Amino acid sequence: MDCSSSLIEIFDIFFSDMRVFIKRDDLVHPYIIGNKWRKLKYNLAYAKKNNIKTLISKGGAFSNHIHALATAGHHEGFDTIGIIRGEQVENPTLDYAKAMGMQLYFVDRSEFRLIQSLEDVQRLGIDVADAYFLPEGGTNPLAIEGTREIYPEVVTQLGGIPDFCCVAAGTGGTAAGLISSSFDSPCQHIVFSALKGDFLQKNIAELLGSTYSNWQLNADYHFGGYAKFDVAMIDFMNDFKQKHQIQLDPIYTAKLCYGVFDLIKKDFFPKGSTIVIVHTGGLQGIRGFESQHGILL
Ligand SMILES: *Cc1c(COP(=O)(O)O)cnc(C)c1O
Repeated sequence: MDCSSSLIEIFDIFFSDMRVFIKRDDLVHPYIIGNKWRKLKYNLAYAKKNNIKTLISKGGAFSNHIHALATAGHHEGFDTIGIIRGEQVENPTLDYAKAMGMQLYFVDRSEFRLIQSLEDVQRLGIDVADAYFLPEGGTNPLAIEGTREIYPEVVTQLGGIPDFCCVAAGTGGTAAGLISSSFDSPCQHIVFSALKGDFLQKNIAELLGSTYSNWQLNADYHFGGYAKFDVAMIDFMNDFKQKHQIQLDPIYTAKLCYGVFDLIKKDFFPKGSTIVIVHTGGLQGIRGFESQHGILL
């Protein structure tokens, strides 16, 4: 299926002399959410062409990628296996994955880290005949082919080149697609890390394979680390939803938008800038987050 998502302008009292748009990639596909569909698109085509029967991947217990893979398998006729980090648990993400027919295996953290290929999966005693392995987060070269389609859509929809494109990053696969598909454009990409530390600087450079000067990492808005949060972030998210009628997710896009708004307030962006924020989805994680923390989003 070929899908694209809309670009909408949002308005806020802080945006004088500034235009801010949201690329609604949370709505890019009818049932596979956001950038996880972008990353699966060419992997699914490859698997079909090569008569793959089973798709195998790994992720955390609330993983958007595991959720997307289970959905894709169910709708497109693949068996799916999810290798989940940590002790056996139940939560809305994993309940859903099971309902989509995904087989789940729980492995401890040290073992989980070592699983990088079909051979590693086989060592767990899992049948890997006619199977295809996708890395954690779904990021591989075919995934980046998919995420390279976001930026050209933005330019067409905007009818011009944005000054800034802002995106959240976990593995950096989505950022790598944006950066590499716009190397000859003056758009500057600001990549907001959802994780503590600046190791994404190196990871994204590796995914890109050569030097690009059209991007920078911002590691100031992780709120303490992956899946960490504070009251200010939750308030921001709820306020954003009320003002703009757009639901953000607490792991990636709320931190991204908080960061962009904060940078606008701090005059980081020159007057007259056009800023595009990519909404990469992740909304499936909200129910699990709410039940885990007793917070309503
Ligand atoms: C997975 C995910 C990301 C991170 O994407 P990467 O390509 O791994 O950097 C960002 N936003 C959302 C909503 C996600 O689900």
